[in-house]
Amino acid sequence: MGDCWECGGELVSEIKGSSLVVTCSKCGMSIARSWSEPIREDPTDYKIILTDSDCSPAKLKAIAKITGFNYLTIRKISQNTPQELCQGWATVIRDKKKYLDDADVKYIIEPKWKY
Ligand SMILES: [Zn+2]
Repeated sequence: MGDCWECGGELVSEIKGSSLVVTCSKCGMSIARSWSEPIREDPTDYKIILTDSDCSPAKLKAIAKITGFNYLTIRKISQNTPQELCQGWATVIRDKKKYLDDADVKYIIEPKWKY
């Protein structure tokens, strides 16, 4: 981000809801403008691929949450990684990957995740 046009201080940008708020870290000058998240406009179809071959019950539960598969299916999947779990737009994948991150599940996203 650039420098503040009031004092030359460093500008920090932050997304709050649907606004991009730019605040000067030095003088506190702040402006907000409406902001469309790039993630919402990303047309890419992402895939979550499970690479974790050592899935605890907590991990299996997280995977169940994002796939809707039953426990047995997931256990089978986890014994034969890598396996594609699901695919979708960036906003969908972002919501799903949260569950995996919370449970510390190892996975990769294809194509490369940039958010
Ligand atoms: Zn400033």
